This record gives sequence, structure tokens and C-alpha cells, in this order.
Amino acid sequence: MLKRWRHWREDRQLARIVLSQDQWHEAIAVYPRADRLPPELMARWQDLALRFLLRKQFHSGSGFVITDQVRLRIAALATLPVLGLGLDWYNGWYSVVVYETAFLSPFEEHDENGLVSHEREARSGEAWLRGPVILSWEDISDLDDPDSNVVIHEFAHKLDMRNGDADGYPPLHRDMSPARWQQVMQAAWQASQKAADHNEPTLIDPYALEGAGEFFSVLSEQFFMRPEILRKHWPEVYEQLALFYRYEPISQLLYPW
Ligand SMILES: [Zn+2]
Repeated sequence: MLKRWRHWREDRQLARIVLSQDQWHEAIAVYPRADRLPPELMARWQDLALRFLLRKQFHSGSGFVITDQVRLRIAALATLPVLGLGLDWYNGWYSVVVYETAFLSPFEEHDENGLVSHEREARSGEAWLRGPVILSWEDISDLDDPDSNVVIHEFAHKLDMRNGDADGYPPLHRDMSPARWQQVMQAAWQASQKAADHNEPTLIDPYALEGAGEFFSVLSEQFFMRPEILRKHWPEVYEQLALFYRYEPISQLLYPW
């Protein structure tokens, strides 16, 4: 009953939002495949992005002025990973914090003697378990690197965290095999590790090798931003990600549940 009421209220709020197609196209300009989306998928994406704006609160980091343009671009990129999954996959947390540039994040470092030092490191994005997503606007608006996308990266962590820590093992669907997922991801990890060890170019950003959670998020960036490259080199990874995201970005097909 509560859920129905919430949807009714959201539909009414949605009907009151005035959004020009120019605003929308400006928001999605950072997504290189936007022009190829069929109209029904584009409409679905826009609907998800606007509902995202209604459900999440935006907060400024260090006084950054958050305009409608900032909000809409982040909402658009954040909802790309849930085109097939649906927005409820982002339930359970409420805030997006936006800084103008990379922000300093405190982190703990443990040395071999067990000593803990507290450092501050510049970050372009962070996703907290059951907490906010934190982003740097400068890194979101950077169009120079077509492979990477910090918003997709952080929101992939959020999906991964639906069953606990960001460990590269998000909740899989009934038509997926956990053993197959693990086998495919491990093989890709080992191939990346081998290339990195030999100073050879890696298919994805070597940052992915920081841990299994990072590996999943970096693969997700590649899956949405440059799916042809991923499918060409690692078709099995592409297939597993399509099954998870319930969406196939090359054929632009949504998978049934
Ligand atoms: Zn990450």
C-alpha cells in the first residue's frame, strides 16, 4: 500500500517537471552512444533519471554550486546502469554529494608492523555502504577519456553493495550461475594481472587490479562506454555483465526478468 502511494505521489511530481529536450541532450552528451538509443529506451532512461532526481538528495561539497545541469547530468549517468535493472536497485540510501574538483578523503594505511597511519588522498568519486555517493564534477564533465566514467564506476559499486561490501560479487539473478560468474571474472583478472606484470597494455584501466570490487566497477564502465571493445576481447565477461545488468548495450536489448 505504502509503495503504491509512493509511486502515485512520484508520478504526480514527475508530471510537474518541465524538461526541454535540449536540457536532456546536454545532460547525456558525455555518453558516446546516446545517439544510437532507440526512442523507447531513451524515454525509459529519461523517466529513470527524473525519478532519480525525485528520490535522491544532492548536497554540495565545499560550497560547490549545484545547478540543474549538474543534477540532471549525474542523474542521467547514474541511471544508465539500471536501465534494465530498475531504479529500486538504488533503494536504501539517499544522498549524492558533489564537489567541484577532486576531493580529499581520509583513509587508513596499515604498514607491515601493524601501524595505522591516517592519510588524505585526492579522489574523483566514492561510494559508501548504505551511505552517499560522492563525486567530483570536474571528473564527470571530462570528455577526453571515452573509456572511463566515474559516475558509472561509483554506481556500479552501489549495485555491488546490495549484498554487502563492494567485492565484485553483486546479487546475481536466478538465470545466472555464481560459479560461472566467478570463473569468468577470475580468468579476466588473471589476464589483466599477467599483462600488468609484464608491463603490457591492459584492456581495462590497471586500477581495476586494486581489488575485485574495483575490477567489477571498471569493467562496468567499459561495458557501458565501449561495449564493442569488451565484447571483442572478453566476450564471456560481456555476456555475464549483460545478464547481470539485464541489458545488452550493443544490440540495445533489455533482458526479461
Ligand atoms: Zn572504485
